[in-house]
Amino acid sequence: MGLMRYLLTGLLLAVILSGCGMEPLPHRITELSATDFPSTSPASDELDVVFLGTGGVYLRSADNAILGDPFFSNPPISDWVLLRPLQVREDIIDRYLPPLEQLQGILVAHVHHDHAMDVPYIASKAPPHVGVYGSNTLRNSLFSQIAPQRLIALNEMAAGQPDDGREQSGQWVYLNQQLRLLPVFSGHAPHLMGKVFNSDQITQPLAQVPQTVLDWQSGQALSFVIDFMEDDTPIFRVFYQSSAAEAPHGVPPAWLLQDGKAVDLALLGIANHGRLQNFPLGVLEALQPKHVMILHWDRFWDEYTQSETLPAPGLKLAALADKLNSALPADVPVYLPGRGAHLRLKESP
Ligand SMILES: [Zn+2]
Repeated sequence: MGLMRYLLTGLLLAVILSGCGMEPLPHRITELSATDFPSTSPASDELDVVFLGTGGVYLRSADNAILGDPFFSNPPISDWVLLRPLQVREDIIDRYLPPLEQLQGILVAHVHHDHAMDVPYIASKAPPHVGVYGSNTLRNSLFSQIAPQRLIALNEMAAGQPDDGREQSGQWVYLNQQLRLLPVFSGHAPHLMGKVFNSDQITQPLAQVPQTVLDWQSGQALSFVIDFMEDDTPIFRVFYQSSAAEAPHGVPPAWLLQDGKAVDLALLGIANHGRLQNFPLGVLEALQPKHVMILHWDRFWDEYTQSETLPAPGLKLAALADKLNSALPADVPVYLPGRGAHLRLKESP
């Protein structure tokens, strides 16, 4: 606890000292500004992507939508350091949450507060059939808030090597006939001094949802391959990794990469990427996606708004662009979205 408090205070100082200026945007990276929520529905050969902030995304094709790591409350750093109970900002969520009529699932990649704390309230607003998919730690952490049959732990189905076990081949999890996901064991870049805050697993259901920032234990981090399908054939394949990890952690297994379907879009959280050696090179060289969108680049402790999106300190965008250039052909677009920014992809052969 003492060490964590010390590290959190160090992080606070680093944030204060770094100021809030945006580095110049490298040519390799295209800014996407916030727009109104798409007013027309995407057809089955179209995929809508809306960046919600931090690791949060909304994906929709035809009548199938998914939320990943939806997070709006953005508790201030003073609440982290003073270990205050974090407040779920229902007012902000009500204002900015995308429509949930088409929602088929909520994915949570790990259980730090900036990925999981808003999920119980959002799940309560979603249709009751909508499952919440993540690790055992997610299920145990939210057990008092969400009906158990809606909390789906994916550790048994995930591909790759878990933090505490042997290699698994992984299997598809079908949300319905048109939507499936493959969980992949992933990792988490260190926050400070080589350390990941709160990285425990929660192995028993908690009687109360985590309260302070230190109560939110990450558990096993996951990445996801998400297929939007038609007639048993994937039309759009999305790779979603909301926290940077050192390959091969988080990289889909060979059987997936060789099944003939290209990755249309890679969604990559880049927080603390500079502390890793082989990110995002390893994952991008394996995936060769057609489009890339950068996530988790923004400040997640200021009052949430979509009118401006401030960068987190220490983004190192120039270094990131160099890595993108060496991993990807020059014609693969890389987007840096503001909160609320929207991209509509069209199916391409
Ligand atoms: Zn985290």
